[in-house]
Amino acid sequence: MARRHEERILLRTSRMTFLHTVAILAYGLLRSMLGALFGRRRGLAAFMRSYAPDRLPALSPSERANLPAMSSCIACGICGHEVMSVMLAGARSMPDFDASTKLLARLTDKQLAMLEPRCPTRVPMRQIAAFVRTKAADAAKMGNKTGN
Ligand code: SF4
Repeated sequence: MARRHEERILLRTSRMTFLHTVAILAYGLLRSMLGALFGRRRGLAAFMRSYAPDRLPALSPSERANLPAMSSCIACGICGHEVMSVMLAGARSMPDFDASTKLLARLTDKQLAMLEPRCPTRVPMRQIAAFVRTKAADAAKMGNKTGN
């Protein structure tokens, strides 16, 4: 008897959670569609403001196009542990790019240029280094604007 009662409560709770989720999604969809209809799209500036605390600067179209090549490290280790750690993990999470710049400070573009031809997947190491440095600086500026 008590077990059936618990099952009914669980079922009711999961239905309420489901309905709550659907209501939130429907509200978001409606708001987005009506905003577009009435010319109140939030736009890039609002997007940047929203994501500033997460330290996620926007990507340019060319940076977006380069992402597959910049994500092609297969962790073979040929370039050495330090370089691999930046190419593999240090260039994946923009909020953590400032930590990666500390590793990159020990590497020169000349060293990376010598390593690039040895890389089996031709990871564009200098391009990644430049991307990480640029985005770390952008994220720092965003943090300054939000007071972080
Ligand atoms: S040589 Fe290329 S694929 Fe291998 S670990 Fe270094 S960056 Fe990654």
